[in-house]
Amino acid sequence: MKLRVGLDVGGTKTAALIVNEAGRPLGQAIQPTEADSPQRLVDGIRTTIDRALHDADQSMNDLVAAGVGIPGQVDPIKGTVRLAVNLNLSEPYPLRHALQEALGIPVALENDVRTAAWGAYHWARHSAPLNSLAYLSVGTGIAAGLILDGRLYRGANGMAGEIGHIPLDATGPRCVCGSYGCLEAYAAGPAIASAAATLPDDGHMPTTNEVYALAAGGHLAAARIVERAAGHLARAVYLLLMTYDVEKVVLGGGVTRAADAFERPLRHAMDNLRAASSLASSMMPDEKVVIIPPDYSAGVMGAVFLAPAPTPADRQEENEKSREAVPPIVVKQ
Ligand SMILES: [Zn+2]
Repeated sequence: MKLRVGLDVGGTKTAALIVNEAGRPLGQAIQPTEADSPQRLVDGIRTTIDRALHDADQSMNDLVAAGVGIPGQVDPIKGTVRLAVNLNLSEPYPLRHALQEALGIPVALENDVRTAAWGAYHWARHSAPLNSLAYLSVGTGIAAGLILDGRLYRGANGMAGEIGHIPLDATGPRCVCGSYGCLEAYAAGPAIASAAATLPDDGHMPTTNEVYALAAGGHLAAARIVERAAGHLARAVYLLLMTYDVEKVVLGGGVTRAADAFERPLRHAMDNLRAASSLASSMMPDEKVVIIPPDYSAGVMGAVFLAPAPTPADRQEENEKSREAVPPIVVKQ
């Protein structure tokens, strides 16, 4: 067996998925992320892999490569990560080297949104041939990952697609980055929840999902917050299409799990842009924009697909195996 593992390291949870040569999932694990120190982080990742291997009924000896998606600014050439505030990694830390030492296998390291974009690209290609895609992640933060000409596009500093901090309105709310009126300050989960802080009758702080549910249920003030966020997101989708002329925009991330309550106002806001502009109509047809299904974990799947390719002999074997029909891979959260 030549197994690969994909890891999605989040601020609070780390998910691991083990796949076989044909990319078929064999086992998975989700553990709290250990972020007290870089060493704890490495140890925690190792433990999560061990649990996933146990779930797959496999051993470390069969693992040949790992892919890791992690929040922060990643230098995939040097294998370092920095500015991962939730993980206490402010200075560049050579995480790839540390993981390769701990695991004894080649490791690919990539920013989490870019990793999820790679997973979304593989998902979208199941239904149609595709060369380019923008993945817009809407969760605690907002960022896009780009696939251009079939390759992950990182930009000069690994920051391509960080559109959450594009200021949309200088008179808007203050953003965590210091600017005013950033996309994130309107449409990320915490922004929606805090804009709706006073809405529930019992005085509790609502979750983002609750705000979407209130809006879908006809609560006017909640609907205004959701519609404002949807308007900004629709413009962000249009911005991605006009900047990169990608074939698809896929939305994912925690906030999109509000499902219909998220999607309906977004589609409505895109309709409004199209109604006003024939250019928007031709560049942003409804079918170009899709929401990733909640049971497809773009983060771990992207990490699996980013795991370093095996040796040429292995690759030949893998090519032969992958010619067998593999069903779309769906991972339960
Ligand atoms: Zn900002």
